[in-house]
Amino acid sequence: MKKILLFCLILAGCSSPDFDLIIEHGTVVDGSGKDRFDADIGVKDGLIAEIGDLSQKSAVERVNATGLIVAPGFIDIHSHATSGSFASSDIAQRPDAESYVRQGVTTAMGGQDGSSPLDVGSFLDSLDVHPAAINIGLFIGHGTIRSEVVGEENVPVTAEQMNQMTQLVETAMNDGSFGLSSGLEYTPGAFADVSELVELARPVAAKNGLYISHIRDEGGRLLESVDEVLEVGRGAGARVQVTHHKLIGKSRWGGAAASLALLDEAAADGVDAASDQYPYTASSTGLTILFPTWAKDGGFDALVGRLGDPQTRKQIRAEVIQHINVERGGDPATIVAARCDFDASFNGKSLADILKDRGLAVTVPGAADVAIELVSAGSCSGVFHSMSPDDVETIMLHSRTSISSDGGIPAMNEGVPHPRSYGAFARVLAYYVREKAVLTLEQAIYKMTSLPAAQLNLDDRGKIAVGLVADLTVFDPLTIQDQAQFGDPHHYATGVYDVWVAGVPVLRDANMVGNRPGKALRHDK
Ligand SMILES: [Zn+2]
Repeated sequence: MKKILLFCLILAGCSSPDFDLIIEHGTVVDGSGKDRFDADIGVKDGLIAEIGDLSQKSAVERVNATGLIVAPGFIDIHSHATSGSFASSDIAQRPDAESYVRQGVTTAMGGQDGSSPLDVGSFLDSLDVHPAAINIGLFIGHGTIRSEVVGEENVPVTAEQMNQMTQLVETAMNDGSFGLSSGLEYTPGAFADVSELVELARPVAAKNGLYISHIRDEGGRLLESVDEVLEVGRGAGARVQVTHHKLIGKSRWGGAAASLALLDEAAADGVDAASDQYPYTASSTGLTILFPTWAKDGGFDALVGRLGDPQTRKQIRAEVIQHINVERGGDPATIVAARCDFDASFNGKSLADILKDRGLAVTVPGAADVAIELVSAGSCSGVFHSMSPDDVETIMLHSRTSISSDGGIPAMNEGVPHPRSYGAFARVLAYYVREKAVLTLEQAIYKMTSLPAAQLNLDDRGKIAVGLVADLTVFDPLTIQDQAQFGDPHHYATGVYDVWVAGVPVLRDANMVGNRPGKALRHDK
């Protein structure tokens, strides 16, 4: 900058450069799903200012993208980067968001699975004061609201409480929430019936927001659970999204198409119904997912209390055994402790490993006993290998499935988490595009950019077009690679060279720059 200024002073009267940045000689995949084309991109004042042959134009900086793909920054429509309080959230703890940036992700949407900050407005205000490298938006969580107004118990909701909950959704929508998230497989979300969800989705629909749901059952009652989402869409007039769409349980593999057909039928009926998905055959959540909902009535401490009562414990154990048999294919090796804060020596071990370590036979009842022991000691996050590769592909191929991570911004080398936080977007480009050709590059990038942007009403991002915000990524389609593996997840993706957020570099030549130009995104503002 200084050099140019000096040059201009000497040649008094010389005009300022045409652009702040020109990315030249790259191949543009613009996010629309249309075919790639060769073009230079001129960026000025944080916006995409011109697309075409800019060889005669001047710029403060020129970046050579020969042989590389230039794409819109990727949008993660299901992120856990905002979990907890602002101070404890991943995005406040690790604002450079390196695990995201190194995959080309420039926007992450938090407040998922029914769990969000109660005060969306103040979380976003905190982000204004302490910005991150990437943009962050939020959903308001149904479980969070229910916990605040009704509590953790399975009790009928009074009209007054319903009113209070509705008002909290309205406030969040006025403060910039992109919609309402639910986590109906978790408590207290699981205690809501569909009429409660319809009621709470009305203020979301009034602002054209999105109802995004971790559905009630991703296994044997998948279709009923997808139907429930569609019922909320019909009842409230809301746009709806089945988040991390999947089918769990070996005996049911092959059933994903039926679930997608429900979305298509509803769409034909005028319901705006979509999905998102992370590209793995394993899921990740707390080990308490193995336990029946009734046992979690009142929250985690109530569960542990029930496990302390021999008679109730026996009943719970029987249902955990049943769950492992039906939902987890009866195989304790498919259930892995990812992070146990009370004893790190369990991290990365499956229930089968733990039984073997103790010289015990690997049986489902034995695995249930270990699960009860781990949960009683404070519980662990887990990784669950329970999906079929074919179902993952079927869901991925659907025209309204976005790519998401369902991950966060992990602390390097802590625990043995699911690799999706480090690799979801890179894995789609490496494995599902380059190796398996399930998707074309153009389709994959559409599912990471303009499709989720449309779901979120993010009109100014998600495409390479003149006038849009210059959230951009440059990567090598021949070498981009997720490096995070199950059991060995703490590796950043490789093959992404440059990332800009609103025209400000956050990654250059595969080096983190340290800038934090990310915005707190507010819906409808
Ligand atoms: Zn979820």
